[in-house]
Amino acid sequence: MANISYIDGVYCNIQNAKIHINDRGYHFGDAVYEVIFYNSGVFYDYEGHINRLFNSLKLINIKFHLSKQQLKIIIKNLFKLNRVNFGSIYIQVSRGIADRNHSYFKLNSKPILTMIVSQKKNNIDDDIKGVKAITVFDNRWSRPDIKTTQLLPNVLAKTYANQNHAYEGIFIDHEGYVTEGSSSNIWIINNNNEILTREIDGKILSGITRKTIAQFAKNNNFKMLEKKFTKDEMLESKEVFLTSASSFVTPIIEIDNIKISNGIIGKTSIELRNLYFKKF
Ligand code: PMP
Repeated sequence: MANISYIDGVYCNIQNAKIHINDRGYHFGDAVYEVIFYNSGVFYDYEGHINRLFNSLKLINIKFHLSKQQLKIIIKNLFKLNRVNFGSIYIQVSRGIADRNHSYFKLNSKPILTMIVSQKKNNIDDDIKGVKAITVFDNRWSRPDIKTTQLLPNVLAKTYANQNHAYEGIFIDHEGYVTEGSSSNIWIINNNNEILTREIDGKILSGITRKTIAQFAKNNNFKMLEKKFTKDEMLESKEVFLTSASSFVTPIIEIDNIKISNGIIGKTSIELRNLYFKKF
């Protein structure tokens, strides 16, 4: 078990890692985060995740005191201390501690960095499993492109999915287009054999796994388009899958109780998943 966490300069047992009651991440979700996957000495898409973290910090004007190099040293130390071979790291930076006040105008708080390592069972070589999903109205704020810890609509969507025996909630916008999953990007392979995922239009998170898979698809001569698609197009497509740092490429075989291609996992999803693991 990964017992050692990191909190504001200190490596400590997770039981003792306590957040101050006036942390702005706690009060307002005034914090950003990343999750990076790790397997036997290799962080998947490390640069992409760290660059996105620094971009998120910039987008909400958090003046972070550590460099990318300093951050890397802490991350590596934490993995060593926990002796984890297969798992992920959760990295969070909040604006810091201050008396409760919505505004951060003229506030000079020191950002608080926290990290937790999770150990997971290595399932890369297991038989690939398809999952069920359920659609939900996308009622999030207008900046889902920023990776903040303010995730209540995502929390509700994922819970609703689980209550309905589904793995993921897929957000649908007010025009009937798919935006993304509650914690993933969504892809389809349509009947023209085109691989589609929504373009980076401010309505989705710019997924790091999405970017890597898009590159694989292009390099391997798949017809790949970054273009939004409707819920109906998704339900009629040959394959649907999701991508994220924790779920890699996961086929979706049923949505809203409708089976995709008779509930059989498609070969392109499997191929892309295998390519993903081969890269690292
Ligand atoms: N969209 C949302 C809303 C997410 O929470 C995530 C996972 N963090 C993703 C997409 C996938 O992003 P990534 O591939 O960088 O994990």
